[in-house]
Amino acid sequence: MAFTETFHCDVCGKEKSEESEDWWLAWAERVSPMPDGDSLPQLRIVPWNLLLSHDSAVKHLCGARCAQTLMDRWMASDGESTELYPATD
Ligand SMILES: [Zn+2]
Repeated sequence: MAFTETFHCDVCGKEKSEESEDWWLAWAERVSPMPDGDSLPQLRIVPWNLLLSHDSAVKHLCGARCAQTLMDRWMASDGESTELYPATD
């Protein structure tokens, strides 16, 4: 029997089924667009990728609607939404 993983949308809690399409992954990074410039927060959203989906900092999204909700939260926090960054000890 194949081992099946269970993923849930990090916004609405919906369970991902085998047939689920249009799932996305999102995480936040800090980037420095200018050499020697200040780093800026950046939200990255990519199509579902199994390898990436195991990253603890990555959020699982069941579609555009939840991606929008996540982006809203992230923007409301000025890109500092802690839930989107890897936990630091
Ligand atoms: Zn969702």
